[in-house]
Amino acid sequence: MTNNIPIGSPVRTQAIVNRYFVKAKKNLGQNFLVDQTAILGIVEAAGIKKDDQVIEIGPGIGSLTEQLLLAGAKVFAYEVDDSLPTILQNELPKKIDDQPLASRFKILLKDVLKANFKEDIGDFFDFTKPIKVVANLPYYITTPIIFALAESDLHFTSLTLMMQKEVAERLEAQPGSKDYGPLTISVQTEMKVKLALQVGRNSFMPRPKVDSSVVVLTPLKEKPAIEDHKHFIWVVKMCFSQRRKTLNNNLKSLLPDKTKRDELITELGVEPRIRPEDLTIEQFIKIAKFIPAK
Ligand code: SAM
Repeated sequence: MTNNIPIGSPVRTQAIVNRYFVKAKKNLGQNFLVDQTAILGIVEAAGIKKDDQVIEIGPGIGSLTEQLLLAGAKVFAYEVDDSLPTILQNELPKKIDDQPLASRFKILLKDVLKANFKEDIGDFFDFTKPIKVVANLPYYITTPIIFALAESDLHFTSLTLMMQKEVAERLEAQPGSKDYGPLTISVQTEMKVKLALQVGRNSFMPRPKVDSSVVVLTPLKEKPAIEDHKHFIWVVKMCFSQRRKTLNNNLKSLLPDKTKRDELITELGVEPRIRPEDLTIEQFIKIAKFIPAK
């Protein structure tokens, strides 16, 4: 009876919760979207077109998945809660554009942090065509997921991700801001960051304690020349290990020799008392080049 009402609405979500005795698992970051404006906003921000290939992280009970499918996407989803596949099979539309659900949607019960994208999606997606990631991320592992996606060897066309507002602010931050740090730098060396929409806590069931933002990340056409990304990120993290201290202080463990530190600071053309958050990405690249790889 309620099946023509979208899953991502308070009435239908409540009906699903009652029917399957769903208890949102806090430890898995389960906050289900019940706001169609927000859901359609995410689909639009991702620019979903017919036959787009989409990886969704954490479909939950299918609020976002349903609208991705109806917009024409083929969806491959990672989920860890083994009670959800049955609900999704029953509640998602049985047919989309006259095609059975199974040809448009596949779910893999696997922690996305352990994903091997190429291997996992190999028999469902065509690698020669664009692949997008769209997700309302589980908040407890937002940052590791972003790091994993940014460093993946699968080249995604775009990542449209909903996350806590505070994390989105870190992704967008510019030098000199308190939000600027390793996450900002790791992402901005690889991707363009665009804030697409803000979503308040009332758009979810159960209601989280924080507001959210949807961010669209697209690979930079011209990436800064970084030879060894792992080494670069390690150096950046070391430079920020004590954010309130000066760069000179943070460099002590990386470059114990004071003459070397002075040489680097002169090369950067900065004051020795500068703090890490005031350095540009180009300056971090120079620091990483100066410091030998471990
Ligand atoms: N997409 C749904 C929505 O928008 O209503 C649910 C989003 S909910 C914020 C996050 C989802 O991620 C949950 O379904 C949760 O079970 C799942 N999840 C949590 N940890 C995960 C992990 N390590 N790998 C894959 N999915 C995970």
